[in-house]
Amino acid sequence: MLEGKVAIVTGGSRGIGRAISLRLAAMGALVYVNYVSRPDAADETRKLIEASGGKAAIIQFDVADGEQVQGAFKKILEDAGSIDILINNAGITRDGLMARMKDSDWDDVLTTNLKGAFLCAKAALKPMMKKKWGRIVNISSVVGFSGNAGQINYASAKAGLSGFTKSMAREVASRNITVNGVAPGYIVTEMTDAMSEDAQAKIKSEIPMASLGTPEDVAGAVAYLVSEDGRYVTGQTLHVNGGMYM
Ligand code: NDP
Repeated sequence: MLEGKVAIVTGGSRGIGRAISLRLAAMGALVYVNYVSRPDAADETRKLIEASGGKAAIIQFDVADGEQVQGAFKKILEDAGSIDILINNAGITRDGLMARMKDSDWDDVLTTNLKGAFLCAKAALKPMMKKKWGRIVNISSVVGFSGNAGQINYASAKAGLSGFTKSMAREVASRNITVNGVAPGYIVTEMTDAMSEDAQAKIKSEIPMASLGTPEDVAGAVAYLVSEDGRYVTGQTLHVNGGMYM
């Protein structure tokens, strides 16, 4: 379905980003797997894609650094000829109650999770506009909609992505570029694996479907939005959370 398309997945090396990278490659896209600090993980993702017959390359850049983003997107454009799909997935947390939160914890999370999406989308815009085709998906979070004590920086950044998604969608819709969000709830990751059984049971009790989601559940929502089936959907956020927030 995505034969001939070039995709960039920020933070594609691990977790949800890895599942998205694998899914887009399985759909036929050439996937640039971005990472910032762990080339080993990015290379593992590349190998997994290639082992199943897909096409991938890894690329290091910090989404929060405008110059690095510009340089990386320029290189991808030179090497691959186009940038058709951008998944703004890279994200960090610096949790803590507001009264004790350091200003730098606010800045780091807002800069990576929100400004990073802006910098990457801006860099992808020109080639997408030229081609009159593009798909941008911003990975948000349920807490950007519900709020969460101890995550004021993260929830603010994710809520900001919602306004970003709608505004950008309006600006570029006439160029056949869609901009959407996917907001995961609790997803099985290294972090949730490390939780006690009691903590996991408590989380499940808050989810109508009574189970955690998987990175593949999130990748499936992304796959729909970038596919031809999703061509008339823009400015939306698709919630993937087992019903915990409606
Ligand atoms: P992980 O912590 O497993 O992976 C984060 C990825 O982002 C890594 O690939 C990491 O690269 C990359 N990254 C971090 N900072 C930067 C940066 N400055 N520039 C480029 N890449 C960077 O994250 P998850 O898979 O858990 O989460 C992925 C997305 O999903 C995030 O946006 C997160 O907020 C969102 N989300 C996750 C949920 C969950 O339950 N896990 C729930 C809701 C939303 P490297 O390996 O090099 O460090």
